[in-house]
Amino acid sequence: MASREQTKRRARERALEFWRTTSQNEWLCNRCNDSIPRDEGYLCSPQITGVHSLDTGGSLDLSGCPDLICDACFESDAEASPFEGAIRPPLQDALGQHDAGALKSKRPTSITVICVLGFIGAAFSIPLIFSDVARQLGSWYPPFLGLMSALGLACMIGLWKMKKWAAYTYTGMVALNQIVLLATGLWNIFAILLPAIVIFFALRNVSRMT
Ligand SMILES: [Zn+2]
Repeated sequence: MASREQTKRRARERALEFWRTTSQNEWLCNRCNDSIPRDEGYLCSPQITGVHSLDTGGSLDLSGCPDLICDACFESDAEASPFEGAIRPPLQDALGQHDAGALKSKRPTSITVICVLGFIGAAFSIPLIFSDVARQLGSWYPPFLGLMSALGLACMIGLWKMKKWAAYTYTGMVALNQIVLLATGLWNIFAILLPAIVIFFALRNVSRMT
């Protein structure tokens, strides 16, 4: 029996064969929808096979259609095995939306997670705006915190809708906030850590936003 190493190498080889048949620079992972850059990913036997009906009324034959999956999905699926059929473009989405335009604005899991955490964070920051602690930092601080929270929430809604302006506005807002925090001596490592994670994923996916 082939070792896991060999299986993985073979699935990558098959992925490279697929990449040679297309000029596209990225593909979406069939399992998690994350972006797979050109010449990466693993071409595996599909999880979904057979004929499926579409919302638009047509049907889609998925038999013999491989999955292109990312490294994380390959590692988390012990059953993943190289696709050995004739090379065909993997579906970018298991539901059959193989229209690249429709896929462009589809929200990746990383952005969904960030937005959900952002909405929770915004809910928790509201009582902070009206707290004594905020008032003690200066009369300007509660309104400033309120403005930042409102802007942050607007950006999270924008990211949820996969809007480019949200990624850029959030980056600018974080930069401004860092300056204010440094100037007032309120800066700490957490002030940059979480926003940096958000910015990393937002900018990484900005090419898929509209
Ligand atoms: Zn994946």
